[in-house]
Amino acid sequence: MIELQPKIKFENVSKSFFNTSKTETVLKDLNFSVFAEEFVCILGPSGSGKSTILGLIAGFIKPNSGLVLFNSKPIQRPNSSRTLVFQDYALFPWLNILDNVAFGLTTKNHSSKKSREVSLDYLNLVGLSAYKDYSVSQLSGGMKQRVAIARALAVEPEVLLLDEPFGALDQHTRESMQVEILRLWSKAKRTVLFVTHSVDEALKLGDRILVVGGKPGTILFDTTIAVSRPRDFKNPKLVTIRNQILEKLIQPDLFMGANI
Ligand code: ADP
Ligand code: MG
Repeated sequence: MIELQPKIKFENVSKSFFNTSKTETVLKDLNFSVFAEEFVCILGPSGSGKSTILGLIAGFIKPNSGLVLFNSKPIQRPNSSRTLVFQDYALFPWLNILDNVAFGLTTKNHSSKKSREVSLDYLNLVGLSAYKDYSVSQLSGGMKQRVAIARALAVEPEVLLLDEPFGALDQHTRESMQVEILRLWSKAKRTVLFVTHSVDEALKLGDRILVVGGKPGTILFDTTIAVSRPRDFKNPKLVTIRNQILEKLIQPDLFMGANI
């Protein structure tokens, strides 16, 4: 039998932070694997350690104990093979749209012509090539987030990390971005870890959902969603999974984003 090697593997990972004279253990003995081309959604209450999990994979944060493996090797530092997109876009206001996308490519040692071509390809993929010369302030929130995603994809990462990427968007834009991210994912097959506050967003997007919670944080629930997209929320399988997730999420703030 061929054993499939995980793209990302957490082995007994614990992470503590030292805050105002006391140590807080945020994650304790985390064990899970993510496989190539999976779209994994991570749900959990505020402060449960979701961003910390992405930070560990991005290489910004080191575990106190345990191992975070990428292609079976411990993650040492940030690398363009794992890129992170934040809720607030983090674009550079002094660069135009094309240069914002090209910025990530500086580590790739491309010629400036090649960087420009690659950046235009990815702007085209997110439907914004016509805006290449615009400044950041001329774009709407949804457009800025598409630029941020184009920038993260342009370096051709193996793993795309999205931390509540649509949290700041209005409902309509959020829904079109959900369609967009699935389209991009099916086109440029990457491994995706997507943190969200919204149960229904996770049910719409994920191949798999991890629920993080408890004190200290751990994986409370890990389920595969074997339902084709677009998802019909009346599908009995989804109804069951939704109820199982809601049972795990006792914090009321999680229900706020759930009515998409
Ligand atoms: P989530 O993304 O689920 O809301 P986080 O991973 O951001 O949660 O944070 C989990 C906990 O860890 C919070 O209590 C937060 O205050 C703490 N924390 C996160 N990052 C740091 C840090 N760099 N220094 C100190 N404490 C941190
Ligand atoms: Mg967070």
